[in-house]
Amino acid sequence: AYLDRIAQVEPTLHSFLTVTGDRALAQAAEVDQRLAAGEEIGLLTGIPLAIKDNLCTYGVRTTCASKMLEHFVPPYESTVTQKLQAAGAIMVGKTNLDEFAMGSSTENSAFGFTANPWNPERVSGGSSGGSAAAVAAGECAAALGSDTGGSIRQPAAFCGVVGLKPTYGLVSRYGLVAYASSLDQIGPLAPTVTDAAILLGAIAGHDPKDATSLNVPLPDYTQALKPDLKGMRIGVIQETVGEGIQPEVKSALEAALKTLEELGATIVELSCPRFAYGLPTYYIIAPSEASANLARYDGVNFGFRAEGASDLLEMYMKTRAQGFGAEVKRRIMIGTYALSAGYYDAYYLRAQKVRTLIKQDFAQAFEQVDVLVCPTAPTTAFKAGEKTADPLSMYLSDLMTIPVNLAGLPGLSLPCGFDQEGLPIGLQLIGNVLQEETLFHVAYAYE
Ligand code: GLN
Repeated sequence: AYLDRIAQVEPTLHSFLTVTGDRALAQAAEVDQRLAAGEEIGLLTGIPLAIKDNLCTYGVRTTCASKMLEHFVPPYESTVTQKLQAAGAIMVGKTNLDEFAMGSSTENSAFGFTANPWNPERVSGGSSGGSAAAVAAGECAAALGSDTGGSIRQPAAFCGVVGLKPTYGLVSRYGLVAYASSLDQIGPLAPTVTDAAILLGAIAGHDPKDATSLNVPLPDYTQALKPDLKGMRIGVIQETVGEGIQPEVKSALEAALKTLEELGATIVELSCPRFAYGLPTYYIIAPSEASANLARYDGVNFGFRAEGASDLLEMYMKTRAQGFGAEVKRRIMIGTYALSAGYYDAYYLRAQKVRTLIKQDFAQAFEQVDVLVCPTAPTTAFKAGEKTADPLSMYLSDLMTIPVNLAGLPGLSLPCGFDQEGLPIGLQLIGNVLQEETLFHVAYAYE
């Protein structure tokens, strides 16, 4: 049924870069056999999932939506997809994204953008736009995305689904093609909070193959799903309700706060004065780490190699000039500049200090409240092509999600209404370190 649905809507949406139909049907047949044999199966057994195409899948093309990796077939499996496979889940395909996860609309994909299922003239968000659209359009039961500065939460908001970026280190990044390693996290996109909780439970946990992976006891996230919010203290970040917010997003937030209060929560207004510095800080740190991570694509070890070079240096240069798209090149140049001798202290080091201050703002806020709320994005899904000529206006759509990555905190986006055009609006819940259960609790009660 899911493969039929994919065949039906893909010509309009383009959520997938690769559909693994035969493999999915073979896996489904195996599940049927296990059921016929009376075997007990787990919650995820036979569940069709979509996987963002920056997660390495053994024997299945993993492109990062880049010409550089167009024909790259990984010789190993990422930890998260390995865990899902072990749980019996079925992969229906690999989803579209902004090239190397750099962007907010999937328009930076080398293979064409993903349209928004609510209105195909609009973007699906990014960079996990393919995963969000696939979930919203019923092309899979749920999906995995990655989030460096908002790439799970913003497309979840634009497509009207639930998306969670876990605490940094909760989910192993082994086999995730690196963008900015101190910020990247993998997480679920799903139709409901319960589905997201089940999926997180399946992918979280310590992994010796990822040096930043946390070794902590894992709760059963589904136990956190409780219907009322008595005693819960919820803080509204004042810095996120000012100028530049679409009026309908603002009123949806106000209505959501009322609902949360009716469910028993106490609403507190508080300030994170350095929240606004998140964006400039991120656009030093993320490109710096990206410039280092992307140095490996030189035409020797991975994927694409340009023709017609007369020596090694020319081969490197032609490969990178032809293999990377414009946004990826922009990030590599910014990052290389920020890390270069003489500028390191002025840019990278300074950005790291501001990052610490942003973390301190959050820490102070969590002395007063259990959860913070704000809009996920300042607007609903914008029109395709609207922001492509102006990178800065594109970057602004991650204003509210980026500080959460800088502080390593968990953040969840869930639908909280529609604008006048019928486009979904997202509500972001931010928790303290490893407080995913609190996020699920509040989101479940609200949903
Ligand atoms: N849009 C942000 C960027 O372009 C975030 C992307 C992400 O989270 N991967 O960097």
